[in-house]
Amino acid sequence: SLTGKTAVITGSNSGIGLGIAWELAKAGADVVLNSFTDADEDHALAKEISDKTGTTARYIQADMSRGDQCRRLIEEAGRCDILVNNAGIQHVAGIPEFPVEKWDAIIAINLSSAFHTTAVALPMMREAGWGRVVNIASAHGLTASPYKSAYIAAKHGIVGLTKTTALETAKEPITANAICPGYVLTPIVEKQIPDTMKEYDMSREEVIENVMLTRQPSKEFATVEQMGGTATFLCSDAAAQITGTTISVDGGWTAL
Ligand code: NAD
Repeated sequence: SLTGKTAVITGSNSGIGLGIAWELAKAGADVVLNSFTDADEDHALAKEISDKTGTTARYIQADMSRGDQCRRLIEEAGRCDILVNNAGIQHVAGIPEFPVEKWDAIIAINLSSAFHTTAVALPMMREAGWGRVVNIASAHGLTASPYKSAYIAAKHGIVGLTKTTALETAKEPITANAICPGYVLTPIVEKQIPDTMKEYDMSREEVIENVMLTRQPSKEFATVEQMGGTATFLCSDAAAQITGTTISVDGGWTAL
């Protein structure tokens, strides 16, 4: 059980981050939700998790594109036994057309944020004598596709950061691993469908079947609950010697 542990999950007011927050809370952890917004609905999500799981859930606003705010998130949480670096955005365009500000934002949110949060969380984990870093990479942290240069560069980068974090903590009761999801039907994926339809001149159904799930041999989207279950496993005693590696939850994508 994760009772007494505090988990901070970046970018967790929707999709995979929220799914992971729910599963960690069900396993007994107190959770800190985060996004760049500060809406009533954000705080309501935290209240719903507290009410339904009996753990403490809070929402802390912080923009993961800003290093100082990444660091402030962990400081404000006050304790961080489990750090889930999940915040991420996507943009689809060929390299010559790729907007420079999108490149910079993707590298900041999908990669640099994890450096900043880890920098503040590791001393807290050392102080507590236990810690888990779970980075949400992607099948695109291990393989590439066209038109997603920034995302793929950031996701390969986060796999590298995960390995380094694991080596720097190898002799301590702290582990660092990356989960590599295939396609999960969340808002980030939903938003890519129109651009991909344009890029390939295809219908929505064709994009889902022939572009998104072509490389997912199971032909099924993975679920946010499965991501939460995998993160919970990485926080268990059974996973204490699993460090510096990736776990693919991709319906066979990376086996192809
Ligand atoms: P999503 O769009 O539902 O979630 C992204 C989250 O990040 C949201 O909560 C959003 O508010 C937050 N976020 C975005 N910009 C932020 C910022 N500047 N500061 C703080 N929070 C910010 O998408 P998702 O599919 O749940 O994605 C979560 C993670 O999983 C991402 O890192 C994504 O790359 C990764 N991933 C998703 C899939 C998939 O198929 N959905 C596959 C592989 C990896």
